[in-house]
Amino acid sequence: MSERRRSPVHTVPDRPPPVYAPELLKGQKALVTGGNSGIGKATAIALGRSGADVVVNYVSDRPGAEAVVKEIEGFGVRTYAHQADVSQEDQVIDMVSAMIDRLGTIDIMVANAGLQRDAPTVEMTLKDWNKVIEVNLTGQFLCAREAIKEFQRRGVVPEVSRAAGKVICMSSVHQMIPWAGHVNYAASKGGVAMLMETLAQEFAPQRIRVNAIAPGAIRTPINRPAWETPEAREKLLELIPYGRIGDPQDIANAAVVLASDLCDYVVGTTFYVDGGMTLFPGFATGG
Ligand code: NAD
Repeated sequence: MSERRRSPVHTVPDRPPPVYAPELLKGQKALVTGGNSGIGKATAIALGRSGADVVVNYVSDRPGAEAVVKEIEGFGVRTYAHQADVSQEDQVIDMVSAMIDRLGTIDIMVANAGLQRDAPTVEMTLKDWNKVIEVNLTGQFLCAREAIKEFQRRGVVPEVSRAAGKVICMSSVHQMIPWAGHVNYAASKGGVAMLMETLAQEFAPQRIRVNAIAPGAIRTPINRPAWETPEAREKLLELIPYGRIGDPQDIANAAVVLASDLCDYVVGTTFYVDGGMTLFPGFATGG
């Protein structure tokens, strides 16, 4: 691994990721949970840039959400911020119902909100176990359920999309890579994988597409300690065959394509966007 990372290609400065496609999602209405920060922020902006109206959900950082709304307004689409805790059933119901009142419907639900509460397992409190499961797993269930109800009610509108609606679950490479010291997080993402596949199986006959994105290591506030010092960065890069840490735009680009009719035949799939992290890089030199 380290020999590979010393190869000349990894000493060239990275070009920023390209930014995707105007009008691909024109006329669609999207909601992004945790849209005030990191991956959710980049995704909300990318959906707006691609022509969708966007609801930016946040739980506590109103100024962050308002800044995202301001940026999206620049694309000439409708957008607003909505405060809701995705782990609270009544708040999720109200959020989706308010969106239907204000924008008419929902076509794309990006269930992105998530958090970590890390600890060695024997020191992990039940409170921290429950918090992570409630936000990362139950929150995605509630958001998907409320969006699907509206997809079912409305059905396919061919001028808007070939599908009756799309759910994108923000999972993680830790839906398949065990992660010591993060048992609540890994279990939540393992749960998201089966949540997503089961919903996909249940609702595909109604032309509802449910898929997931599994990011690898993306530079956001959730994992700051893993990338903010040169030593931490070096250590992290050992796990990434492609030799760079991901940018939120890498995930946003995947979300735009996955939500669009370019991926209309993609159902129940996890889109790994991880620079090869799930390729067992430790085995690259023979194991
Ligand atoms: P982040 O901390 O920047 O964003 C997480 C967002 O979720 C924040 O806006 C936060 O306020 C919001 N949130 C937390 N609890 C909430 C609640 N109860 N209700 C509503 N919103 C809530 O981190 P990020 O990296 O952008 O994470 C976004 C998603 O991507 C998460 O699901 C995370 O597990 C996943 N992910 C991130 C990485 C990575 O390397 N950054 C890797 C794999 C998966």
